[in-house]
Amino acid sequence: MAKNWYSIIDYDKCNGCLTCYSFCPHGVFETRSDGKPLVAHPESCVELCRGCQKVCPTGAISYFGDK
Ligand code: SF4
Ligand code: SF4
Repeated sequence: MAKNWYSIIDYDKCNGCLTCYSFCPHGVFETRSDGKPLVAHPESCVELCRGCQKVCPTGAISYFGDK
């Protein structure tokens, strides 16, 4: 898959709830040592999917490639 779309986490806004991690059906996220999500597999992110952004309660998720 072309890598022109993947999630980006604003760690200043992220509260570590891991809702995005639990939600994503494509295994894009892993967890960091501080418990917050890491975009470990951006190549697995689905172009134009905004699922994790919609479920994030703090508005911490944006997308590389979003216009
Ligand atoms: S859903 Fe939002 S606030 Fe929760 S862990 Fe993911 S990025 Fe952070
Ligand atoms: S945009 Fe979709 S595929 Fe990409 S990390 Fe979020 S839920 Fe997973």
